Amino acid sequence: MSGRTFIQNPGPTNIPDRILRAMARPAIDFGTEEFAALLESCLINVNRHMANSGPLIGYTSTGHGAWEATVTNLFDVGAPVLVCDSGHFSHRWGEMCEAHGLDVQWFETGWRQGVDPNALQEALSTDAGKRIEGVLLAHTETSTGVTTDLEAVRSVLDDLDHPALLVVDSIASFGCTPLRVDELKVDVCLAVSQKGLMMPVGLAFTGISERAVSAAYQNSRHRFYWDWRRRLEVEGYRMFCGTPPIHHLFGLEEALTMIDEEGGIDAVTDRHQLLADAVRAAVQAWSSAGAIQFNAVNAHERSNSVTCVRLTEQHDADKVLQVAQERFNITMGSGIGPLAGSAFRIGHLGDLNTPMVMGALGAVEASLRACGIPLGSGGLEAAASLLSESSS
Ligand SMILES: *Cc1c(COP(=O)(O)O)cnc(C)c1O
Repeated sequence: MSGRTFIQNPGPTNIPDRILRAMARPAIDFGTEEFAALLESCLINVNRHMANSGPLIGYTSTGHGAWEATVTNLFDVGAPVLVCDSGHFSHRWGEMCEAHGLDVQWFETGWRQGVDPNALQEALSTDAGKRIEGVLLAHTETSTGVTTDLEAVRSVLDDLDHPALLVVDSIASFGCTPLRVDELKVDVCLAVSQKGLMMPVGLAFTGISERAVSAAYQNSRHRFYWDWRRRLEVEGYRMFCGTPPIHHLFGLEEALTMIDEEGGIDAVTDRHQLLADAVRAAVQAWSSAGAIQFNAVNAHERSNSVTCVRLTEQHDADKVLQVAQERFNITMGSGIGPLAGSAFRIGHLGDLNTPMVMGALGAVEASLRACGIPLGSGGLEAAASLLSESSS
């Protein structure tokens, strides 16, 4: 087919040509001043965008690696933790905690909403002696399209004067939804390269607080590759516990330059909010015919990164995805877990602008219509109208 295929997956996302070009160059010696400066500037700037004054640790890995680094550094075998199970990814992270021998207390949200502060307050109030060492949650749960209000979660911990570490998977929210680590006293903030950062998969980060650093030093669990102590103490190449990902850092430096050129991380999250609002306006209009609905039941929790659209029973979401891909040049995320076959997910994070989002919405509408799914009218009009009223 002619033209570009649109990748509206919630990761990996579009990689701007500028980033691809920045990576298309010869390797450099990682013992040089040039490499030291590149690494330092990348770490400083990612941390600046997290608003984190603690250390930032980089990994040549997926998000799963950052999960494992976090779990094995913070918690010893048998440590009680509360895992907020709000969808596929947070559930899987909890399973990883169990695999590492943690004593997991599951906090269920039902996969259509985020962490309810009152319910969390109740769950933590039963923790006599305040033994729970960590509260783990996904800021944006990519499988459900739900973003949890982190300020509310922080307030619950503060109100109870609960010392648990606040551990946040911001893999799908970093660069899309504001998250200020110091201000919210987030102890670990996890991010990856292939979502909001517009990069190929292969880099992950944890911004960590001083409390998290001391927890790691007090934890006698055996570990090596992921060990923060090893990564914090030895200069240069050892931070990555092996040869550093030189080309990914070339790309990352370019991505960080692009973020600053746009006006900084706040401008980037504002754009995500606007484009997400446009997607939501279209889905809202389509839903009036009763065949589709938002998975996220609370409007204020609908994420800036991905919209999960549910179809009523008689319709097949996988068929929509197939038609979208084969006839209309667009790929999207499929329904995961209990949503398999009955939902699809429109990713709207990373390198995107208004015509790309309008194009994607047009292709989604055409796909839904081609599958005979009844749609309310005016979806594209609602999106265009919302965009026309925005000031930026
Ligand atoms: C994508 C994603 C992950 C997993 O990242 P990988 O790089 O695929 O391991 C974890 N959590 C969330 C919220 C995600 O969106």
